[in-house]
Amino acid sequence: MYQTCPGCRHRRADADAAPTDVCPRCGLVYSKWLQNRYRVAESDLERAREADGIMQRVKAIVLYVPPKTDPLLLAGRAI
Ligand SMILES: [Zn+2]
Repeated sequence: MYQTCPGCRHRRADADAAPTDVCPRCGLVYSKWLQNRYRVAESDLERAREADGIMQRVKAIVLYVPPKTDPLLLAGRAI
């Protein structure tokens, strides 16, 4: 499955007796490792989405323009 172990970087040799799904050096099970990795990636995505929502809210507050413009201020700008 993997030529190089994603956990310990051990390069698999033909002489390695361990099953192809298991790292002969650190015993890492590649399919389980993949599952964990996928789960982490998903929660990262979830966190990114949350952060994006917060950013949208912050932007809305920062870029908020009061609906009524001071007529004096508007006249001052026009001059
Ligand atoms: Zn390994």
